[in-house]
Amino acid sequence: MSILIQTDNLMINLIFGIILALAISLISYKLKLLTTSGIITTFLLALVIYTFGTWQWTLPIVTFFVLSSLLSKFRKRRNPEVEKYFEKLEQRDHLQVLANGGLASVLVTLNYFYPSKLLYIVYVSMVAAVCADTWSTEIGTSVKTKTVDILSFREINQGISGGISLPGIFASFAGAFVISATSLPWIESNYQNNIIIITAAGFIGSIADSFLGSSLQAQYECKVCNSVTERKIHCGKEADLLKGKRWINNDVVNFGAGISGGIFSLIIYDIING
Ligand SMILES: [Zn+2]
Repeated sequence: MSILIQTDNLMINLIFGIILALAISLISYKLKLLTTSGIITTFLLALVIYTFGTWQWTLPIVTFFVLSSLLSKFRKRRNPEVEKYFEKLEQRDHLQVLANGGLASVLVTLNYFYPSKLLYIVYVSMVAAVCADTWSTEIGTSVKTKTVDILSFREINQGISGGISLPGIFASFAGAFVISATSLPWIESNYQNNIIIITAAGFIGSIADSFLGSSLQAQYECKVCNSVTERKIHCGKEADLLKGKRWINNDVVNFGAGISGGIFSLIIYDIING
């Protein structure tokens, strides 16, 4: 297995990077996908990833961003009421963007100076895990379905962290698989192995995210409406901490999903290539 790495023409990459980053920022602004801080962060991440990684590194994360944004719009139309459990409102801010893509810019820069096909697999697996996690939430909550806590198996309301459902599990698998497929143009051989490694790592990463969500993520109970929520403030009042740690919010858990996807890809890579 070998992956082509294009490291020449940095200036041309930079110019294309600026155009691409501007286009993504403008679309995000028009569709109200991101807050102002989210748009600035996305612009910088897109610029770094394209300049140092060209399409090989840009395609997986842009695919995640575009398809997940569309799914989110679709879910909002079908089942807007789950929103009350989510920590963040409508638009994604800079912390959310960094939780999903911050490490990506570190890996792409590292790979530019020390090219490694393994770094690329780790990178795509991280994006696959974040995508699997996002899709399981967006698709899992777009249909009314039985949702249970991943640790206690007790039935819980849809949209609460740590909840799993059958549609959510299928969506998670699909999200990881779609991202694994975006790496194919740059893989010369052993297509199946790469797809298996990245899809499995992404899927397991999103399951790890649910464990984190159920065990450590902060959940609050609103003093006014008594609903369980990830928001510190609900109905205009500070909510009581129900379980988890205050500093472990949705961004921290998403970041953890990416990291575990990357780590699992190394483990599975090692098992397959023994
Ligand atoms: Zn409330």
